[in-house]
Amino acid sequence: MTNADRFYIDGEWVDPSASASSTDVLDPATETAIATVALGGAEDVDRAVAAARAAFASFSQTTVAERVQLLERIVEVYRSRSQDIADALTAEMGAPASLAGTAQVGAGLGQFTFAIDALKNFAFEEQRGGTQVRYEPIGVCGLITPWNWPPLLIAAKVAPALAAGCTMVLKPSELAPFNAVVIAEVLHEAGVPAGVFNLVHGDGPTAGSALTSHPDVDMVSFTGSTRAGVEVARSAAPTVKRVAQELGGKSANIMLDDADFASVVPRDLADVYANSGQSCNAGARWLVPETKLEEVLAHARTAAEAVVVGHPEQEGVQIGPLVSRAAYDKVQRLIRGAVDAGATVVAGGLGRPAGLDVGYFVRPTVLANVTNDMEIAQEEIFGPVVTVTTYTDVDDAIRLANDTVYGLAGFVSSADLERARAVARRMRTGMVHVNGAGLDFAGAFGGYKQSGNGREYSDFGLREFLETKSVFGYA
Ligand code: NAD
Repeated sequence: MTNADRFYIDGEWVDPSASASSTDVLDPATETAIATVALGGAEDVDRAVAAARAAFASFSQTTVAERVQLLERIVEVYRSRSQDIADALTAEMGAPASLAGTAQVGAGLGQFTFAIDALKNFAFEEQRGGTQVRYEPIGVCGLITPWNWPPLLIAAKVAPALAAGCTMVLKPSELAPFNAVVIAEVLHEAGVPAGVFNLVHGDGPTAGSALTSHPDVDMVSFTGSTRAGVEVARSAAPTVKRVAQELGGKSANIMLDDADFASVVPRDLADVYANSGQSCNAGARWLVPETKLEEVLAHARTAAEAVVVGHPEQEGVQIGPLVSRAAYDKVQRLIRGAVDAGATVVAGGLGRPAGLDVGYFVRPTVLANVTNDMEIAQEEIFGPVVTVTTYTDVDDAIRLANDTVYGLAGFVSSADLERARAVARRMRTGMVHVNGAGLDFAGAFGGYKQSGNGREYSDFGLREFLETKSVFGYA
């Protein structure tokens, strides 16, 4: 793959410094190496940050109209390279073509288009009595992203940072770096000025922490696990930089007793299983009325057993492998622990699906008799696994839903929208999906509690990259 073993700094593809190393990126469907990626060291990060700092002087002074034009050009070029981004995702994360293209690549595109609207409508200056309040770009931003929805998560940072007039260094996940290479090529071709956007590959402890602790980085926007988020906050603390965190989740799905289970169960199962269950907001912790348990399990078994798992290039495949050996092992460990603790397997279970002996494939699984104190009910699974826990009444359901350190998303299904919204208001989460996993880029994405403190999408995302300045004084 072109440019995979180089970094994009100050408008050109450069060789890694002597402080860099490298690693193989594996195809998770075959467990074979597809290419090598360079892992940057402190010197590479320094060089990228210096380029971003130099570029900030002029980019921060561009007009809204100029930045709108730039983002519009990015949208055009991104569209023309969509297939290349999708192909990279299929190779490095095993995403089936349908998911890689429409869902993954489409979501990234949506972030750029929504950022244009947000930018056009944003008031960068307002008058409050005699005081002028100005919103100014925060400066040089370190952007750190995971591998699970890469174009969406990269664009959810790059688009608002550009809209704000910031410059940036992106460090994408070392597990799925190649889609980021294509995105860097898109930004280059679209005419993003040299130094405004820089890309350094690398792992968390080296390149990641060089970026988060860097004295010349004004802000870190981080998406990843809560564990790494804590390290990021710690590393950023001595320089008092802003840290926007989008972290893990353990989202409950409250099915109210008036839901139409025949349609709700297969829909919600498909939503959890999408992307092989590797979504931060997956509503994988089902809370079901005691009286409806058997009905829910019957529908869930039928739907789970109909899911086609296989190689991403194969026609008709709905879900591919997990991203890595570590992810596979974690899912197996959690299923085993749950069964040992008294959970029952309704569908799927341990091991790979029949006929798939190589690759990090997991059986689409439904577990019943899960109680909230089990590890599987408290730890993020990040695999195609749904757990079912029963509740007695709505108060009990809400208590169970909120009994977690996470607070990213909640799900509620009901035939009565107002009843569902009343439950949504009592959930301690940044987002609640009512009647399905759909979300809208006009809203805000982010979590309560240990799911983070940031908000992405639309003008909520734009605000993250702005400083507020008050100019007091009278004529
Ligand atoms: P991860 O935390 O292992 O890695 C995320 C990124 O952080 C990678 O680029 C990694 O190299 C980097 N990193 C790791 N340790 C670091 C450190 N000490 N300093 C700086 N950077 C460091 O997460 P992952 O496995 O790539 O992604 C899955 C996790 O991300 C899940 O927990 C998921 O819920 C979360 N996630 C959250 C959101 C959200 O918007 N809230 C979206 C997607 C994924």
